Amino acid sequence: MTSRFLLSVLLTLALLWPGGAGAVSVCVLGNEAVRISSQNKRVLIDGLYREGYPEDVILAADLRQRIETAEGEFDRLDLVLVTHSHKDHFNAAAVIRHFANNPQARLISTLEVVQAVAGEIPVARRHSVPPSVEPVAIRASGIDVLVFNLNHGASNETQNLGFLFELDGKTIFHLGDTMASRAELEAAGVADHPVDVALVPFWYYLYEERAKGLDGVLKAETVIPIHLPRPDADKQYLTRFGGFEGLQAAIDKIRPNMVQFEGGAGCLANLR
Ligand SMILES: [Zn+2]
Repeated sequence: MTSRFLLSVLLTLALLWPGGAGAVSVCVLGNEAVRISSQNKRVLIDGLYREGYPEDVILAADLRQRIETAEGEFDRLDLVLVTHSHKDHFNAAAVIRHFANNPQARLISTLEVVQAVAGEIPVARRHSVPPSVEPVAIRASGIDVLVFNLNHGASNETQNLGFLFELDGKTIFHLGDTMASRAELEAAGVADHPVDVALVPFWYYLYEERAKGLDGVLKAETVIPIHLPRPDADKQYLTRFGGFEGLQAAIDKIRPNMVQFEGGAGCLANLR
C-alpha cells in the first residue's frame, strides 16, 4: 500500500468521523510545528515561532495569530513543548503571548528556552530539562512526558529535546532537530519505548543507511517526516530531487509507508 493511498484512506475516515470520542489527531502545521489532540487534551510542539531560515516553512499570519492569542483550535492547549531554541522552533515573545492568553498552558523545554521566558511565565507553569543521558519524566497538565536529550548534530551544541507522551492510548514521539546516530539513539533509551506516531526530521530518510539505523532503534507504527522545506524554496537539494514532490518521492523510496502530506502539512485525524 502506498503512503499516498494510505493518506487518502485516512482522510476519508477523518471526514466520516469528525472528532469522534476518544480519537487522537496529529496535525503537522509546518516546519516542526505539530498540534496533537485527544478528546480532553491538547498539545502543541514547536508551534510558537515567527521566523526561520530561507528554506523553512513560516506559518501563515492568521494561523500564527490564532496560536499566539490562544484562539480557535489553540484556545485551551494543555502543554506547550519546545524542542530547542532555534528561531524556526521558538520565539520568546510568541510563547509569552500565548501564555498570557491561556492560563492553563504549561511549558516544557530546554534550559535556554525556559530562561528566555522565565521573567514572564511563573515558575509553576514552566519546566526546564537539564542535559542528561537518561530520559527525564515530567508530569504537567495531567500528561506524563518522557523527555530525551537528543543531540542536534556534531557541529551544533544547542540542546535539543525529544518528547514522548501518550494521549488516549496513542503514544506520540517528536524528535526535534536531532541528528543523533543509531548508537546515540540507543544510548538515550529510544528503543525501550514503542511508539504509535513518530515525528522525525526528514533528513534521516535522505540516505538508506541513516534511515535503516533509525528504523533499527525507533519502534514506530507510523512515521511522519517533518521539517520539510518550503515547496518553493530555492535550494539546491530540492532542484536535485526534481522539486518538492520529487523530494517526497525520494524519501518515500528510502523509507516506504510513511505518512506524507501534500505540501508537507496536514492531519492524521481520528487515530484509534
Ligand atoms: Zn530546525
